[in-house]
Amino acid sequence: MKAPPFAYVRARELPAVFALLDRHGDTARILAGGQSLMPMLNMRVTQPGVTIDITRLPGLAGIELKNGNIHIGALATHAAIGASPVIRQHLPLLADAAAHIAHPAIRNRGTFGGSLALADPAAEWPACCVALDAQLVLASSAGTRRIAARDFFQGLYTTALQSHEVLSEVVIPVPAAGTRHAFIELARRRGDYAIVGVAALARSQQGKLCQLRLAYLGAGETPVLAEKTSQAFDLIDTFEKALTQAQSTLASELAPAADLYHSAATKLHLARVITARALKQLVQLAQPAA
Ligand SMILES: Cc1cc2nc3c(=O)[nH]c(=O)nc-3n(C[C@H](O)[C@H](O)[C@H](O)COP(=O)(O)OP(=O)(O)OC[C@H]3O[C@@H](n4cnc5c(N)ncnc54)[C@H](O)[C@@H]3O)c2cc1C
Repeated sequence: MKAPPFAYVRARELPAVFALLDRHGDTARILAGGQSLMPMLNMRVTQPGVTIDITRLPGLAGIELKNGNIHIGALATHAAIGASPVIRQHLPLLADAAAHIAHPAIRNRGTFGGSLALADPAAEWPACCVALDAQLVLASSAGTRRIAARDFFQGLYTTALQSHEVLSEVVIPVPAAGTRHAFIELARRRGDYAIVGVAALARSQQGKLCQLRLAYLGAGETPVLAEKTSQAFDLIDTFEKALTQAQSTLASELAPAADLYHSAATKLHLARVITARALKQLVQLAQPAA
């Protein structure tokens, strides 16, 4: 299919974007990497009055360390994040997750901000941002506001972004020294959206995991931070017992919907499998080499 007719404006600066959004409201769509919007237009899932191309806006594609936080501009591409030495050093969870997003051509154009704004529950970046306790910066003609990732995702493809706002950057605190990470996902074929996945972070104290954060993708309408499951590890001493407890608690925290190929029960089972893999990986990383 072909996209319906729509007006197109290439913006050169943020105030021009704000003015267009203020004027057109809900009928405007921001165009970033176009890797989701263009297919949606072609399938006529969306029919915007005006499309505002922000790809040439200056200053929105940076990846920088400032005062203990990593600032990632909304226009940073998936590929740039995966290849960034700053990300590899300070947020290796993101570097690992980037490799799971689609294929190289899509990673070269698709953007961090576009993925977060779209809020596909099976996407990698939203779950990583929840696990890392990221803050999203939303800019408009009224100024900027910050919102925690866990409050930003509100439902299926639904976020706290209002029609006059642009997601301009994401601020992620650098995890404390000694923080371990694991990113595991299952997909039918490499490059497909995940069936289910988990972004995991933990610290280790004397070989025991603590301050565990498990954020799941493909396990509900939004990324899910499984807090009760994480707490099992702080409360129980032996790894095997904690793992059993965590796997039984998961059912009360995840609500995966069936898809064309997997029942909800299968997805929950797979979530337990990847949880075990992630936790074993974190424990191995936490133990000193023999
Ligand atoms: C075949 C295929 C496979 C894919 N597989 C995966 C996958 O495995 N994992 C995954 O995560 N993604 C996958 N994607 C999606 C891809 O990652 C997209 O890049 C991403 O979802 C959207 O980013 P974009 O920059 O292309 O945004 P666009 O397509 O330009 O925009 C997407 C939506 O976000 C809005 N938007 C974009 N930027 C902003 C902003 N800064 N502020 C406010 N609103 C904004 C747009 O208005 C639009 O509604 C796949 C895409 C394809 C075509």
